[in-house]
Amino acid sequence: MATELANNIRQVADMLKEAERVCCMTGAGVSAESGVATFRGHGGLWEGRRPEEVASPEAFHADPEDVWRFYFWRRKKLAECKPNPGHYALARLEGMIPSFTLVTQNVDDLHRVAGSERIIELHGNVWINRCTGGHPSDEPPCPDTRVTPDDVLDEIPHCPKCGAMMRPGVVWFGEMLPSDEFAAAVTAARDCQVMLVAGTSAVVHPAASIATWAADTGAAIVEINPEAPPLSSAADYCLTGPSGEILPAIVEAMSAASA
Ligand code: NAD
Repeated sequence: MATELANNIRQVADMLKEAERVCCMTGAGVSAESGVATFRGHGGLWEGRRPEEVASPEAFHADPEDVWRFYFWRRKKLAECKPNPGHYALARLEGMIPSFTLVTQNVDDLHRVAGSERIIELHGNVWINRCTGGHPSDEPPCPDTRVTPDDVLDEIPHCPKCGAMMRPGVVWFGEMLPSDEFAAAVTAARDCQVMLVAGTSAVVHPAASIATWAADTGAAIVEINPEAPPLSSAADYCLTGPSGEILPAIVEAMSAASA
């Protein structure tokens, strides 16, 4: 590892050891080393189409079967993927810092599988089914259901309560973020002393603004990305490299400093 990168990792580790409140935002890049393609990177197409074309309310309205085929495919691919050392490092960090909040744009569930517990899923989770049935405003919506890789993954699900077609429990292009999750992410970002931003091109708003709010309230911003990321001018540290290497190196440096 280059000396400058190693020095920066040590400095970030020292800073994290002193911190009481840390927030980490992750994007698709954190799962790239698990074999989950990023949307904008190589391998991000599905049957020659961009995911934006199928992951939208308009696409679902026009052809729900087509959209579900995309999600059946995604679920089957994700069922074969395992967390990588970056996911495990973040799960360890949660146990090393008094208040650690993980905000993810990922829908793949790999942070949970790796052992992270305090997770804010801004874009939902691909293993959730949500009822699309209409409900009177004085009635609560039908509850979500959660499927696993062991369930049937190629039949359009219907709501066990009202029988309406279900949809994947993810936030599609053009949809609002879930308000409770977004509010919790904003609070964690405004409150943290260190903000880690790993594996996201930070172009999808409003999630992309979260790091900026952290910077506005004085948090140190640490970016982890193999490519020069868009936030780099606002970041205090740019740790250039794959998160599956950089995050474990940070955790190791923290552990070595306390030994
Ligand atoms: P993105 O595809 O726009 O950007 C991915 C970023 O990861 C890029 O900046 C890239 O340089 C970086 N990257 C690539 N390999 C990396 C590595 N090994 N380590 C660290 N960084 C790496 O992804 P995005 O900004 O997260 O936005 C796309 C949206 O699509 C997300 O909001 C998400 O909801 C969805 N998505 C999710 C998944 C998933 O759940 N794993 C996968 C694809 C897309």
